[in-house]
Amino acid sequence: MQPIKDIIICGGTHGNELTGVYLAKKHNWLLANPAAAALCRRYLDRDLNRCFALSELKSRKNSSGELTRAKEINLLLGKKGTKTAPDLILDIHNTTANMGITLILSSKDPALLAISKVIATEFKDVRIYLQPESREESPYLGTVAKRDICIEAGPQPHGTLNAELFFKVERIVFRFLELVEAWNNGILPKIGNKIEVFAEIRNIDYPRDAKGNITAMVHPALQGRDFCKLKAGMPVFMGFDGKEILWQGKVCYPAFINEAAYYENGVAMALTLPAKDA
Ligand SMILES: [Zn+2]
Repeated sequence: MQPIKDIIICGGTHGNELTGVYLAKKHNWLLANPAAAALCRRYLDRDLNRCFALSELKSRKNSSGELTRAKEINLLLGKKGTKTAPDLILDIHNTTANMGITLILSSKDPALLAISKVIATEFKDVRIYLQPESREESPYLGTVAKRDICIEAGPQPHGTLNAELFFKVERIVFRFLELVEAWNNGILPKIGNKIEVFAEIRNIDYPRDAKGNITAMVHPALQGRDFCKLKAGMPVFMGFDGKEILWQGKVCYPAFINEAAYYENGVAMALTLPAKDA
């Protein structure tokens, strides 16, 4: 196994997710979207974290705003899909959902899974989330590197700071770097399979009328219950008239419940299941 040496830490890929913005400023890490951060907005033109598919990075079409920035970052870091790409990117995000610290992996990379499991035993409220991606066409910034991890910290309203989460994420990043070194030296503590890994299945949208207007909200009984078991018959949404909408699908464990930034994407929550072989 090749050692993981060339590591990029970045924040502010979304300009209003202030844990990453201010950690990047404090430590001189990569501030991914400074233009959006200056205005405390998620993005200006389009979501920077949806601009890193290889076909987009390579396209010669005139680009503006975030796509130009994505191409700039790709060149700066060493080009996605090539030998000069960094070994690892750690990208720091916030979520308004009650997800604690969620370490999102885009593949079952053995090194990152093993390191994340150690982190999950050492820190409270840490979960591992598997979001398998086809690396080449994945639009996420982290996929510029050979492997990546996204650190989601919540619940935190976008555009605000939370001192507890700020220092917790900072500690986790530095511990992560130590554990990468331990991995490189073959001395990473072994944790086994007692840490649960949640694998993303699909997203679900809010109930909507024929015009696309949302007709129900996340049910109060589900709000804040990220990574808890959802079974058929349990309430999921509540209409503006107070009528309950009950879950009719299979057992799952929702996350990103009521994430503010996903309203525009038609996502009310992401459904996950414990991964069997992670
Ligand atoms: Zn984000």
